[in-house]
Amino acid sequence: MILSNVSKRYGETVALSGIDLTLEEGKITAVLGESGAGKTTLLRILAGMLPFEGEVDGQSGARPKRREGCSYLFQDCMLLPNLTAEGNCKFVLPKGEWGKIGGMLERVGLRGRENALPHELSGGEKQRVAIARAFLFPHDLLLMDEPFSSLDLALKKSLISLVCELWAEKQSTVVFVTHDVREAALLAHRAVVLKGGEIALDLPICAPFPREFLSPPEEETLLMRALLQ
Ligand code: ADP
Repeated sequence: MILSNVSKRYGETVALSGIDLTLEEGKITAVLGESGAGKTTLLRILAGMLPFEGEVDGQSGARPKRREGCSYLFQDCMLLPNLTAEGNCKFVLPKGEWGKIGGMLERVGLRGRENALPHELSGGEKQRVAIARAFLFPHDLLLMDEPFSSLDLALKKSLISLVCELWAEKQSTVVFVTHDVREAALLAHRAVVLKGGEIALDLPICAPFPREFLSPPEEETLLMRALLQ
């Protein structure tokens, strides 16, 4: 996807300003930055959910269309409260493909929890349903807004390796928002740091997968410095 001179204003607030960015197909990009930097706005523009100034893939942002083949994992999971874990997955798939759901729920560690309603699930379990649903939905672009933010370290680590594994099978284009440098260092091929709606840093992360928390790649230190500046 190619973003050319993308800007977004909410009234007086400039959320994004003149973003030029090419997202390579089949790669994982982390979008980092402090709160209010414009990360979610960028994700929503990629999904075709918001009008904007500039162009994405040569299309003006004046009247955006929802992007087809785009799976979006929202910050707060957005599970349908009256549907079970399995029902939430069925909701995004045609009936002919429901056979895939059991296997996916098992892979994300929810065997035996298929019939639980969202209010019966822990935060981590809800996140697993949301991840299962996002990967089940047929997509070539996966957008995730702070998918691991509310989880403790061990859970975060296990869900990041799960996402890594699921991504490796499909190799779809992934863009995920985070404010945690370690998440970017573990999961992304590239980190884009936003500051005040502009790109402050655009850095490839070259370490091979799977990556380890305890031996942070050199890029992590670079990113950490860039964020602290
Ligand atoms: P981030 O995801 O990095 O926290 P956002 O993209 O949510 O940043 O927001 C960028 C800026 O735009 C912030 O100043 C925020 O307050 C503002 N903003 C976001 N959404 C709206 C909205 N719907 N109405 C008005 N201002 C908004």
